[in-house]
Amino acid sequence: MRKQIAAANWKMNCTFQEGEKLMDNILEANISLSDHQLAIFAVPFPYLLMTRSAVELEKNYFVAAQNCHHQKSGAYTGEISAGMLHSMNINYCVVGHSERREYNAETNTMLAEKVNQCFENFIIPIFCCGEPLNIREAGTQNDYVAAQLKESLFHLPADTIKNIIIAYEPIWAIGTGKTASTAQAQEIHQYLRSVIAGQYGEEIANEIPILYGGSVKANNAKELFSCADVDGGLVGGASLIAAEFIEIIKALK
Ligand code: PEP
Repeated sequence: MRKQIAAANWKMNCTFQEGEKLMDNILEANISLSDHQLAIFAVPFPYLLMTRSAVELEKNYFVAAQNCHHQKSGAYTGEISAGMLHSMNINYCVVGHSERREYNAETNTMLAEKVNQCFENFIIPIFCCGEPLNIREAGTQNDYVAAQLKESLFHLPADTIKNIIIAYEPIWAIGTGKTASTAQAQEIHQYLRSVIAGQYGEEIANEIPILYGGSVKANNAKELFSCADVDGGLVGGASLIAAEFIEIIKALK
């Protein structure tokens, strides 16, 4: 079975102590994950080691960075490279979240370089794509997200891209309380998979987890995750509340 993933994105939230407590509370629920199920915590850089220690003995619980730089190393004060993350045993990194695309001017081309940096350093990118409201209203969301995949991912060889995780996150649903309907989510996830299949073939397309992100909560996760092409969620707000995220992990197929 394709991997099913509950990924938390803490963004720029929580003090260190609040983060420790949140991890304790989630892990106290003792949710045992099957081989195909993963829980990944994308935490602020200074909390990576604390979170990594917290999950060290847990099966299929992992830690992710929320970003990395697109260059290997150099005079980029305040930045973090994929190589640095690898040297800290961090295995995942969110790449191209819509907030970074908007506030940090991250382009599809720059994201292709970040994806390369991740793979060169044995880090699995959780690659985010998704359309803003005006594109959804114009009905051109499929072309928009297909271009994001093509421009940032389709230079990768098949045996590399097959390891990626994609998160489809309609921008109009992030932090707004508006969730895509299950029909909307399934339709575009299926479309994204067909775009990947067109480039790399069905077998590879069927291996890649495509997560849904955008106001996933305990009360809608099960329904969203039940869609055939939705392989879990990338979760912002609800991942900061232990009781919510516990239910979201439990909602994985
Ligand atoms: C996100 O941070 O990627 C996200 C989907 O946020 P929220 O769940 O709060 O909409």
